[in-house]
Amino acid sequence: MSSLHDPRAHFILVPLVAQGHAIPMLDMARLLAERGARVSFITTPVNAARIEAIIDQVKESHLPIQFVILPFACAKAGLPDGCESFDLLPSIEYTKAMFEGTRVLQEPLELFLRELRPKPSCLIADMCNPWTMEVARKLRIPRIVFHGPSCFYLLCVHNMAMHGIFERVPDEFEPFLVPDLPCRVEVNKAQALGFATGPEWANFMQEMVVAESTADGIVINSYDDLEPWHIRSYQKAKGKKKVWSIGPLCLCNKDVTRKATRGNKASMDEHIITKWLETMEPGSVIYVNFGSSARTRPSQLIEIGCGLQASNRPFVWVIKGVELTPEIENWLSGGFEESTSSRGLIIRGWAPQMVILSHPAVGGFLTHCGWNSILESISAGVPMMTWPQFSDQFLNEKLIVDELRIGVAVGVKVPMSHVTDDGRVMVQREDVEKAVSRLMDGGENGEDRRMRVRELQEKAMKAMEGGGSSYVNMTRLIQYIMEHTNKEL
Ligand code: UDP
Repeated sequence: MSSLHDPRAHFILVPLVAQGHAIPMLDMARLLAERGARVSFITTPVNAARIEAIIDQVKESHLPIQFVILPFACAKAGLPDGCESFDLLPSIEYTKAMFEGTRVLQEPLELFLRELRPKPSCLIADMCNPWTMEVARKLRIPRIVFHGPSCFYLLCVHNMAMHGIFERVPDEFEPFLVPDLPCRVEVNKAQALGFATGPEWANFMQEMVVAESTADGIVINSYDDLEPWHIRSYQKAKGKKKVWSIGPLCLCNKDVTRKATRGNKASMDEHIITKWLETMEPGSVIYVNFGSSARTRPSQLIEIGCGLQASNRPFVWVIKGVELTPEIENWLSGGFEESTSSRGLIIRGWAPQMVILSHPAVGGFLTHCGWNSILESISAGVPMMTWPQFSDQFLNEKLIVDELRIGVAVGVKVPMSHVTDDGRVMVQREDVEKAVSRLMDGGENGEDRRMRVRELQEKAMKAMEGGGSSYVNMTRLIQYIMEHTNKEL
């Protein structure tokens, strides 16, 4: 595929081994390739098997994307065999080992890059892969950092760090105001940082800071019309380092087949799901899914189910394979599924989320506030019920509920990692029912929310079309890299 005189830009994409990070980078790969650049997408055996359908689609479309499957030495990383993605970890206790363990990809990546002729133009690496800094430096390849979260979150973390808040506020649950914002945003450290609050995370966090500060630029999955002030302020905060907002990346998936194959094989055929959705009134269905890695305890799942049942509205509820314990299966088959069969669809495992969200029958999304899920909901014009669980999600909730006013909060205050495993539930069935009725009821506030999210949907589409802000930023990114690479040679 590579030729000695290939004049095109060649991007090496190195995602974090987590679906919420790899999915947007796969979309980025397509967008870069559609704009004429060559792309090598770095993956591992287990992750490659999950995206087999995408690899086949790319081959058929003759897009210049190469999938490079590197070995992931789980034992060396201190991980159980086959744990090549965050969602496959046996428990939350392995999270740090996984973040640090991705370094096992450094050597095979370096070997692969050394062989490439001509030298690639640029490496775009997830912010959580700080070890790529050494690879790029050794091989003298320009490097861009990809930040997965909202720009609002990135700006808040930047401002908190600049004001030394993480050191000044010792108590994880002490509330403080995020400095230098035009609006009042109150959080605590546990909410702002999620699981990474302890001293054992300090080294890894510092590595990420250094990797970002030495990068040649930053790409973010957002668009100017969604968070104009935050993007401008973040660019200002980063000084000469360029920030390119090139999203929502998910909008590159136009047809159903592409929407249905993101991240993993769906556990239910998309046609069965759309056929079911077709039997429901437009805008009537609640969709419930907490992303790829958050896990919900059995007692909490039962509470969600009872809330949905009490809401008397149609729903599609995604329950992950790991959550389907014998207790949950017994509860589902012991009356719940039967009593809701006329208006409830349960998907056990991976769901084709974009297919569901973009169906006109869906009128609300109960989400954990993962940034991809939020962008997908906005891109489909669907308002949200917010139930943040960790990392950027509590701040994303503030953006959705308080600033953009396109969602209602379920009322969760404590990150998942801080909840003890004693069977207590964070959210009662009444809270779920209340949030559903607030979001789905046709009152003035509900109408305003729907109108606002549709306006943002339209603006998102415009941003990604030829001449739109994200489209233009992608052009600028490619141009910048080509100029930069030429100077290097
Ligand atoms: N996703 C999906 N089906 C599922 C669960 C998740 O397609 O059953 C996709 C979802 O559409 C999104 C990504 O996985 O693109 C999850 O990313 P997000 O940032 O929302 O959350 P995370 O998984 O990182 O917590």
